[in-house]
Amino acid sequence: MSGNNNVIEQSLTALLEDESFLPDLQAQTRDQAFKSLVAILSTPNHIHKSFLRVALENGTIVRIPSFRVQHNDTLGPYKGGIRFHESVNEDEVSNLARLMTLKNALHELPFGGGKGGVIINPREYSVKELNLICKKYVQYFNDILGPDKDIPAPDAGTGEREMDWMMAEYKNIHPGEPYRGSFTGKSIINGGSLGRKEATGKGVYFTFKYLMHNFVKDNERWLSEQENRFAMTALRNVDKKLKIAVQGFGNLGSVAAKEAFKCNDLQNNVVAVSDANVMLYNSDGLDIPALIRYTEEHEGDLPQTEKDLSENGIKAVVKERDDLLEIDVDILIMAALENQIYKDNMENIKAEIIVEGANAPITEEADEYLSDKGVLIVPDILANAGGVIVSYLEWIQGRETQFYKEEEIYELLYNKMQSTMDTILPQFFGDPFPLRQNCYIHSVMKLSTVLFRQGKLY
Ligand code: GLU
Repeated sequence: MSGNNNVIEQSLTALLEDESFLPDLQAQTRDQAFKSLVAILSTPNHIHKSFLRVALENGTIVRIPSFRVQHNDTLGPYKGGIRFHESVNEDEVSNLARLMTLKNALHELPFGGGKGGVIINPREYSVKELNLICKKYVQYFNDILGPDKDIPAPDAGTGEREMDWMMAEYKNIHPGEPYRGSFTGKSIINGGSLGRKEATGKGVYFTFKYLMHNFVKDNERWLSEQENRFAMTALRNVDKKLKIAVQGFGNLGSVAAKEAFKCNDLQNNVVAVSDANVMLYNSDGLDIPALIRYTEEHEGDLPQTEKDLSENGIKAVVKERDDLLEIDVDILIMAALENQIYKDNMENIKAEIIVEGANAPITEEADEYLSDKGVLIVPDILANAGGVIVSYLEWIQGRETQFYKEEEIYELLYNKMQSTMDTILPQFFGDPFPLRQNCYIHSVMKLSTVLFRQGKLY
């Protein structure tokens, strides 16, 4: 399996070299523990595959390849989204499932990691057909799903509507059993949580803002004592008004851009956004609320031409989509798909801080290259956990059948993210590893300790 294996191995090495870690783990078993942990973390527990048989509206029968990968359930039921995308594949879903294991461990959530995928372009199917695909997914994977077994959620190409349909099908198949916790990311009327839809985008901006404007500023001693060269970026930029570019303007990118826009006067300026077709640029800052209104009326698309912009009174120029990654900004918020920064464009990146809103938007090679240059990369498992954190709150509310207010949700969300950062950041500022590795070390430490105490490393 490709992906973040190297970072996992490096994190394990750093952890097991530390004599104070699990002193009960005798020296002679450390080697063996390393091998066991690499095996456990680099391979999923189960890969479930099926071809969903679906009758299209025109009468044709199609067989749609679909997956559910259950990576690891050491910390609780498998948890993670289901992606509908034409290029999703088994390797990608497995890698994303593993990221969920690490993400949930990092934020102390009582979940393991899983991920699902259905190989379709959802835009090519009617609402009726999509409904059927969702029902079939639940029917085919019924045995392995459930509120205490494996709890899917939205991911790229799926949202509240799909989760509502899937939960309804789960309820049909399991009459009389608890069902509200079987899927998260549902609509509010169907037992979803207030704030779930905005949670990932809000959490992404919160992570960046907390790191730059609270943590670094409030901890002046880091200014003199810090030892990590990646931390220099944050320190250098702390009093500057930063230029931000956001790649992707879906549920994640638009919310992150809106949160950043709210702080435009003080600490930053959102100068560029892109969707699947174009980039919009304005060096004085883009009117993000106007762009969101536009996308709501145009099936998610940004204005595509100068004419669309002027007719809607939006000041910006239209540029090539992929130029967004290479323009002269301080911060890149990655909110599209994976592998966007890779060997061919990594040398042209000018941003000094990259926040990973999407999962795995930077290839391993580009990650190493940029980290070596001293770019501060705020990793996916730290920055984009808002979604799964509020999924956790939704799951709890579903069990209690009692619902929290929106302010309560955001308070719980920010407290959780802040408490993770308060654990990770002092460690990061004081040692020589990139932030991703610090996060991995923390997750792997949690998982190894639990596995060891459960006697699973012998
Ligand atoms: N798909 C989201 C993620 O990658 C959310 C997962 C969830 O809520 O379970 O984190």
